[in-house]
Amino acid sequence: MKFKKSLITGIVASVAASALLISNTAMAQKDWPTKSITLIVPFAAGGPTDSVARLIAVPMGQSLGQTIVVENVNGAGGTIASTKVARAAPDGYTIYLHHMGMATANALYDKLPYDPLTSFEPIGQVADVPMVLLAKKDLPPKTFKELEAYIKANGAKITMANAGPGAVSQLCGLLFQSRLGVKLTNVPYKGTGPALTDLLGGQVDLLCDQTTQTIPYIKDGSVKAYGTTTLKRLPAIPNVPTLDEQGLKGFEVKVWHGLYAPKGTPKPILDKLNAALVKALNSPDVQKRLADSNIDIVPAQKMTPAGLKAHLEAEINKWGPVIRKSNIAD
Ligand code: ASP
Repeated sequence: MKFKKSLITGIVASVAASALLISNTAMAQKDWPTKSITLIVPFAAGGPTDSVARLIAVPMGQSLGQTIVVENVNGAGGTIASTKVARAAPDGYTIYLHHMGMATANALYDKLPYDPLTSFEPIGQVADVPMVLLAKKDLPPKTFKELEAYIKANGAKITMANAGPGAVSQLCGLLFQSRLGVKLTNVPYKGTGPALTDLLGGQVDLLCDQTTQTIPYIKDGSVKAYGTTTLKRLPAIPNVPTLDEQGLKGFEVKVWHGLYAPKGTPKPILDKLNAALVKALNSPDVQKRLADSNIDIVPAQKMTPAGLKAHLEAEINKWGPVIRKSNIAD
């Protein structure tokens, strides 16, 4: 009898404790955010991914009523940051902006400690950024045709910067080399921000980078631009031909970005994050700053968790075979 009574008391106490826990959790989700949010960026400060992150961090923070602090977790082409986010507490205080490296890393690395499709909660797609094949300003070739001949004559004496395996600069650079049938000396950096600084200083010969920071340098002649990775010329630099029109048929790399949270982040918090993202991307100031760098805002249906998930899946299926076929992961 005594045993039965203490059992019942125990059950009642544990039901009450779980109810309290549920209501505390619900309360925490309802009140979220009560402190600043960390937005992790997988590349160095001053680079293109960092710039897109900082551009959305301010208006998103204003809508949510808390500061969004950008943290650069550099290295290994973004995979160190992805691992960190996959292991972070799913409480809405860690979010993550990554580009299409989220879809290519699996094919480039043998084993990753996270799965791009199951270790994160997609929040929404952010923007599509074109790339340009750049060179230091005093590299001798004047045209893309001359560059091809120069590369064939000099091979590994030529250096090409990138942001590490998993970075789009690396993917673009390796696809370029595989199309020309050459191997250059590839130099990894912690982001294309520092790589661009070295290109401007003449310490490295070539770099394939997003247009985010590069358009002013192309326009004032501080770097050479041999071709864009788009199938149409870019309005901001109409004199730069596409690589496709110069003989590299179908050479297209458009860098899309997505916003994520660690797996298990509660849906009410993801909904608030998505609403803040959509509002930020629709603000005239953000739209103008993106347009100035030829960055395209994605259609509304892609700015959603389902839109980003579907796009990520499609990109994994698209790039896996391309990377394997070009042997660029070797
Ligand atoms: N543009 C870089 C890349 O190649 C990353 C960055 O620094 O934003 O992936």
